[in-house]
Amino acid sequence: MRELLSVDEARDRVLAAAAAAGPPRVEDVPVADAAGRVLAETVVAAHDVPRFAVSAMDGLAVRVGPAGRTLTVVGESRAGAPAGRAVGPGEAILVSTGAALPAGADGVVMVEDTERRDDGTVVVHRETTAGRHVRGPGEDLRAGQTVLTPGVRLGPVELGVAVGAGRGTLRCARAPRVAVLATGDELTAPGAPLGPGALHDSNGVLLAGLARRAGGDVVLTARVADTPEATRAAIAQALHHADVLLLSGGVSVGAHDHVKDALRACGVRKAFWRVALKPGKPTWFGTTEPDGTGDDDERGRLVFGLPGNPVSSAVTFLLFARPALAALQGETPAAAPPRVRLAEPIPREPHRAHAVRVRVRDGLATPTGPSQGSHVLSSLLGADGLVIVAAGDDEVAAGTEIAVEPI
Ligand code: AMP
Ligand code: MG
Repeated sequence: MRELLSVDEARDRVLAAAAAAGPPRVEDVPVADAAGRVLAETVVAAHDVPRFAVSAMDGLAVRVGPAGRTLTVVGESRAGAPAGRAVGPGEAILVSTGAALPAGADGVVMVEDTERRDDGTVVVHRETTAGRHVRGPGEDLRAGQTVLTPGVRLGPVELGVAVGAGRGTLRCARAPRVAVLATGDELTAPGAPLGPGALHDSNGVLLAGLARRAGGDVVLTARVADTPEATRAAIAQALHHADVLLLSGGVSVGAHDHVKDALRACGVRKAFWRVALKPGKPTWFGTTEPDGTGDDDERGRLVFGLPGNPVSSAVTFLLFARPALAALQGETPAAAPPRVRLAEPIPREPHRAHAVRVRVRDGLATPTGPSQGSHVLSSLLGADGLVIVAAGDDEVAAGTEIAVEPI
């Protein structure tokens, strides 16, 4: 048998093709819509955060002084409504948490340490020192400080920090447009009655969901009959609308597998076909040439022919298509994949790397079930990651440290 491409070599070719597609296209996105997007600019704080000294407590803003003194309450500073005047000697101003510290005040005394009188005075039972219960300007962020850098995937915390730093929109990588084509005469819409020999199209929703989770914008999903004409027509349409094509099925050597020929006919150039991987051996990957106009819509496309068995589709998406989508968005890759230890020995496959679905608890990886067949999609239920067990004749011992590809 001809040498199969290694998983690493296949992934390198995919990443090289993604890099050749050029830097990510960008757009300005309102922060409320930016969760899950990849940042394409440097965010600096527009001002100090907090912007001004604020009270950390509900209480009274006062000058420094000993316990036991009686002060006159001369005003109030509420969050969003600063006091109109300063605190002078012998005076106090009511403050709420988050309210601006009035001019002249050195510190805040907690309301619990005071006793208000009906005559408008207050007795302070504690000594007040300078800065007591005061949050200084810039304690969180300094004006001009770099807060976020390009390539970070924006989660709720990143977005919250960006808003605090003064931002209402963020320049983000545009989501790559993804088309999902599930090939197979046997495929039936989810929930529809099944004819003889038919099965429900799981891969359509599976791959679309994985693509969305990887930051893709799924613009097209379709089921495609096993004829050369239908396959070519669907691919031509998808190439028109999407940056990344995910095909499932029809990519092996069967008489009714038309994907490879149809891709060639549609001008998609093969970068590889067949990887030394179980499941996922028939994986096909190729690209189209950009049309040379430099027009954003005419960049080269990345095309993945993923095997039809649902586990194979999911595994090859995770190993090859997900990194490509991340690269198209300019996402900074993790420094190194997390490492775990095998909770039990795993036999090696003689000729191919084996992508084993594992659950990870306390740094120990356990295969999700006895059946790791490529058709057993339920073996992915509850899986936290994939470990790639290199080919060989022996087994990998329990306790061996191994990289895990998070799902
Ligand atoms: P193929 O790669 O086209 O030879 O498909 C291999 C097997 O995967 C088929 O016989 C089906 O059992 C299964 N399969 C293919 N496509 C899908 C799909 N979209 N959803 C669920 N199962 C599929
Ligand atoms: Mg098929």
